Amino acid sequence: MSKIEIQSMIAPFTVTEVRDLCEASYVVRFSKRDLSFRPGQHLVVGVLGMSDAREYSVYSGRDEEFLEILVREVENGVVSKKLRRLNPGNNLEVNGPYGFFLTNAQPPANKKLLFIASGTGIAPFHSFVKTYPDADYTILHGIRTVDEAYEKEVYGEGRYITCTSKDEKGHFQGRLTEYLKNMDIDKETMVYLCGNSDMVFESIDILQEKGLSNSHIFTEVYF
Ligand SMILES: Cc1cc2nc3c(=O)[nH]c(=O)nc-3n(C[C@H](O)[C@H](O)[C@H](O)COP(=O)(O)OP(=O)(O)OC[C@H]3O[C@@H](n4cnc5c(N)ncnc54)[C@H](O)[C@@H]3O)c2cc1C
Repeated sequence: MSKIEIQSMIAPFTVTEVRDLCEASYVVRFSKRDLSFRPGQHLVVGVLGMSDAREYSVYSGRDEEFLEILVREVENGVVSKKLRRLNPGNNLEVNGPYGFFLTNAQPPANKKLLFIASGTGIAPFHSFVKTYPDADYTILHGIRTVDEAYEKEVYGEGRYITCTSKDEKGHFQGRLTEYLKNMDIDKETMVYLCGNSDMVFESIDILQEKGLSNSHIFTEVYF
């Protein structure tokens, strides 16, 4: 029996919505079945019956009745293009959850948290805040233009700071790392970085220069 035939015998992960957030990025919502995860973990997702699948952080909250992923459509990208063209009723192949990112930030840890994201690297933090809205967090989000401040109403007053590199509408105009250089950070803060490798590695250097210990810095690199 083929892999596809076996999967068709169990309830599939079925797409219920594909929601555009801006020109480049969108959310895919699909059935949760009995999958449970911790905010920060990722899934491996592909279109059922096609061979390619990629990692995506869960974007939705732990207790929501559906799963969501936030995807940037990458130029010439194989999977990120296919997922955007899905329609309600289409089925996905989903494996996971995987990873440990953010797992030590969860209550009852009760630490001061600094979340640093570039682009769709906001996804695990969105999941975390949806699940633990009362956590003591600040999010620093590096984006090109302010329309990439996806669904920002989820974040608490004063807890979400945008750094826009291509328009002047963010809280800070310029690169996230420039903002970080001038930011006061308590040495006991737990810092979580997620997104592209250039941002992550440059930010680690800045945090170390500020005297933060490696034991307080955690990373999830997307590409
Ligand atoms: C643990 C983990 C979690 C991830 N979570 C997310 C997530 O929540 N949302 C998300 O959008 N992506 C996420 N990614 C990246 C994702 O897995 C894919 O790499 C991405 O969607 C591109 O896949 P593709 O098949 O479209 O492109 P491919 O055909 O695989 O690659 C095309 C090229 O695009 C580059 N690339 C990959 N991602 C990007 C990007 N965002 N911007 C510009 N260039 C890129 C690749 O390095 C490659 O050179 C995650 C990656 C990892 C390792």
